[in-house]
Amino acid sequence: MKLLGFLRLKGNLRVVTGLHIGGSSAGISIGATDSPVIKVNDRPYIPGSSLKGKIRSLLEISRDLKIDSKLGRHECKSSDKPCDVCVVFGRAAERKGDEGPTRIIFRDCYINDELSDETAKKSGYTEIKMENAINRITSRVEGALRDAERVLPGTVFDVEIIYRVYDEDASSKSLKDVEKLEDLPDPLKGRFNMVLEAMRILENDYLGGKGTRGYGKVKFENIEIDIIPLEFFQRGEGVKVLFNGALEEAVIK
Ligand SMILES: [Zn+2]
Repeated sequence: MKLLGFLRLKGNLRVVTGLHIGGSSAGISIGATDSPVIKVNDRPYIPGSSLKGKIRSLLEISRDLKIDSKLGRHECKSSDKPCDVCVVFGRAAERKGDEGPTRIIFRDCYINDELSDETAKKSGYTEIKMENAINRITSRVEGALRDAERVLPGTVFDVEIIYRVYDEDASSKSLKDVEKLEDLPDPLKGRFNMVLEAMRILENDYLGGKGTRGYGKVKFENIEIDIIPLEFFQRGEGVKVLFNGALEEAVIK
């Protein structure tokens, strides 16, 4: 299977309501929170695997795909022709058929200081929130208070998602004539559109933990989608911007 190039989506992810993606409390001083957010160099980040897992699961639900109870997610059997979710997001090595390598790569997302709100920045991007269990009948607080750290609203992360385009994705076998999203060859067009669709679903769902209690509303901003054919790496030319704008406008017709 021949690699033809890459589709690269760059953008930002704005935290709208407190975001909790759990990290390890190992190495955190006594007196700190029971439930810290994941960090690198003392700054919160969003692991690519968290974003990938959430987006895959939203597609599985929205397409009513069969969930494998052992894996806790959907995966087509090795004897079956894989569905688009399995082609794009991959299936375990022992289940792989002739679909080739997993197409999509989600980079870890780091904070963009310039685009983040001043108030979030001044507080170091996180807060510790007290949590408790409320009895719904008596409205009384029950059980011990717990605290949890969360990333503050107004924190903005950089997002990069790469789609590796193989000849199996592209009926026309060349990315040369692609000028806009609508020009993408089949089945690449449908597969990439599926990723954009799941990002829009995510904005109405949540990322991270405690989503049904108000956490984890996020919004994608400043979306740019580029095509990078292999010729770019050989001759330094051919990169084209296919789309620039808001996610809700990035619908491939
Ligand atoms: Zn599948």
